[in-house]
Amino acid sequence: MSRVSPWLPFVAAVMCCLLSSCGREETASCVAPSQSPTIEQQKGSHIEDFSGVRAYQHCATLCALGPRPTGSSAYQRQVEIIATHLTELGWHVQSIPFSPSAFPQRRMQNVCATFGGSSTPRELILSCHIDTKGSGENAILGADDGASGAAVLLELARVLTLQPTLAQRIELVFFDGEESFGPHITPQDGLFGSHHEVQRRAECLPRYLINLDMVGGAGKTVAVPLLDTAEDMMEHYLSAVRTLGFSENNWTIFPGSMLDDHRPFAGAGVRTLNLIAVFHRSTWWHTKADNMERISPDSLGETGCMVMQLLRQLM
Ligand SMILES: [Zn+2]
Repeated sequence: MSRVSPWLPFVAAVMCCLLSSCGREETASCVAPSQSPTIEQQKGSHIEDFSGVRAYQHCATLCALGPRPTGSSAYQRQVEIIATHLTELGWHVQSIPFSPSAFPQRRMQNVCATFGGSSTPRELILSCHIDTKGSGENAILGADDGASGAAVLLELARVLTLQPTLAQRIELVFFDGEESFGPHITPQDGLFGSHHEVQRRAECLPRYLINLDMVGGAGKTVAVPLLDTAEDMMEHYLSAVRTLGFSENNWTIFPGSMLDDHRPFAGAGVRTLNLIAVFHRSTWWHTKADNMERISPDSLGETGCMVMQLLRQLM
């Protein structure tokens, strides 16, 4: 992921600052206690629990494989672990092999999963990338930049199967080739998996895409890129922050644009939300310090709760 405009301080709208217990325990509620009856009454739906602890376990399982750069045996093993988990939950899993036109010698592989028998294109994609940066001695573990998004999606897959009507309207997509071969993502290098999915789907694009990247770090600050986000989607995001009682210091807006996997979809007219933590000036990003020590079940739990709240609002 790359920033394409400088960071500017963002002052969020004044929001309530209820401390949420989301993700702190196996059975933590996704809604601030004082608000849950209202939300349940309004939506008329049962609120299922997203477990940050389970997501953390998924993250640890993927990281136990070591670095998982595109084309590596660890990447292939990771695909098998993801496919096995989703298949056991009843999701239909497809491997999508491809080679980027700029790097025809490279073999890449996205993973897509749908629930229910219908072949109708789903209205919303939940996505992340599962490749990690670097290769050989420079390969990084990518606990946050690689595994955290997948960990949240794998736990969301379980929660969604408890709401099959909702699950049938959603597709899970795990992108390969988000990371560039060069130092930074450019229009020609990186985001290969998301570009391929947009190209492959042609006229059958979803209405919405929510992309997760670096969403498991302890004490993270998420910053949704303003310039890539439709006004109504940003309103949904801010509304979800308020409803969940999350801190406006940790769930913010980046007043610019970002090169990440949401961009090919946004460019094709899909309404996107890129949930990505601030990595700028960090000491861990794209280094060996991006390991499980920086991942927290609470952080993963909050991200899962945010996605479930967005699904309630959008769907
Ligand atoms: Zn990266």
